[in-house]
Amino acid sequence: MSDRRFSPRKLLTALVALAALHAPSLQAQFDPERAYKQSAEVRQHYPDPQVAYDTPGFAPGRKDFTSHEEMLAYVEALRRRSDAVRVRMVGESQEGRVMPAIVLSGEGVQTGVQARRLGRPVVVLAGLQHGNEPAGGESMLVLANELATGRLRPLLDKLTVVIVPHSNPDGAYHFRRSPYSNVDINRDHVKVDLPETRALHRIVNEFEPHVFVDAHEFSVATRWIEKFGVLQSYDLMVQYATNPNVHPALTALADGKFLGAFKEANARAGYTHFWYYTTSYNLKNYLVSMGGTTPDIGRNFAGLQHAVSFLIESRGVGIGRESFARRVHSHIVSVGSLLQTAADNAKELMDTVAAARAETVRRGRDPQPGDNIAVRLTSPVIKQKLDMIDPASGVLKTIEVDWSDSLKVEAEIARQRPWAYVIPPVFHDIAERLMVSGVEVRRLSKPTELEVESFQVTDRRASSTFVEGRITHQVTTEVAPKKVRFPAGSYVFPMAQANANVIAVALEPESPSSFVSFGMIAVDKKGSPATIAAPSEIPVYRVMRPVEIDVRAVKPKP
Ligand SMILES: [Zn+2]
Repeated sequence: MSDRRFSPRKLLTALVALAALHAPSLQAQFDPERAYKQSAEVRQHYPDPQVAYDTPGFAPGRKDFTSHEEMLAYVEALRRRSDAVRVRMVGESQEGRVMPAIVLSGEGVQTGVQARRLGRPVVVLAGLQHGNEPAGGESMLVLANELATGRLRPLLDKLTVVIVPHSNPDGAYHFRRSPYSNVDINRDHVKVDLPETRALHRIVNEFEPHVFVDAHEFSVATRWIEKFGVLQSYDLMVQYATNPNVHPALTALADGKFLGAFKEANARAGYTHFWYYTTSYNLKNYLVSMGGTTPDIGRNFAGLQHAVSFLIESRGVGIGRESFARRVHSHIVSVGSLLQTAADNAKELMDTVAAARAETVRRGRDPQPGDNIAVRLTSPVIKQKLDMIDPASGVLKTIEVDWSDSLKVEAEIARQRPWAYVIPPVFHDIAERLMVSGVEVRRLSKPTELEVESFQVTDRRASSTFVEGRITHQVTTEVAPKKVRFPAGSYVFPMAQANANVIAVALEPESPSSFVSFGMIAVDKKGSPATIAAPSEIPVYRVMRPVEIDVRAVKPKP
């Protein structure tokens, strides 16, 4: 113990320090010193727009970004101020931060059932799945305000809008891409390991959106300087759902009316844009890939659930607060154009989505040869020109890169759509995860013999490191017909449902996001542990033709 005399001043200092420790969430862990500082020559290309926003991140003198507590307070103030706003708590993050959803409608509805009764398109907007992409989150608060009380208020007579402003509150607090578990929420939409992903799914299941928009930011410097000696130049990147199992009528609507409106609005605002693209952290790998085609990305997953689905990214990761107003405004212009398009084409949008859902049910009820599911995917690599910017002189320069083209994705493995998938009764966890994604599940009431297709493993490769928190397994199988006697309680996933695509991408073993890929259904080249499977057989079975079976529905947990 120290024998120094008691000092009130020291005590006060200690208390302030202690308070700072115990109220950490008042200040996000953003360190401006670590941000890349763009040259004046570069910055002059990105002047702030003539807008004034009242969200916490734009308070005078602000040096960091909106904290979790400020977001909650802002949402609550909005609710008090506007009859159009209802607030729902949809989940809790891994570190215990609550996740609100803001439900906006002219009538002040707050549930999915009420929203459907209005007979209008429903739009779900998700911000900040990646915690170090602050303009995505801030734009959600600005949009909520403009819809509730501002210039976008008239849209609420034509649309219901549901906004999850902070989809990754822990990542936002730590100012990092993923939550502290290091598992990426935006690669978790099939396996649903994370409570944050599950919260987003609850909203999508309940509201069955016609349009889904995922708001992000992209890296400006880092790998682009290291690999190509340039900075990114585009204000915005955009991409709709590009998994080939998305209904083509939805892709056509996205590529036509919606993308067209996005382009017009940004041309008027003076913002440049391109398809979304990225490049790996491996400095020897120069491939530039358009946003991926895998089903576990939020944009693609929402597309598989029959939303016209968009990713919007602003130019912002790694540059601190530079051009923050422009970044947020570019989101407002972009998402605003998609909302306006949904409102202006409400009937066409709703009819197209309803037809896609109905057709998916019909195809599952009576599957036909030639009606295939794309299982393992491949995208061609072509040459692509990109506008970049010199980090010192600020001069625009075009580079040519090898470009993996998601718009031309093809199925390396395709299989006929089955009538149902069946798995043995031990796999409760698989059934539960599919129910989290809105899938309707049945169980056999009594032991039943069925003619099925089985998967025989011919090759299996496990990853040497963790991928999204799991050792992944790439398997190759051969499909073999057989008769299997399934025990009572075996799980049945009928494909005559709107979410049939979700079942297929989770259960086809070679699908990049499948439960086999992520090790939830353990397989071995020598065989699986499932009781009724032969050696080297995966305990997932395809029933190809409609049959009479005795089943009972499984109720999802609330
Ligand atoms: Zn992101």
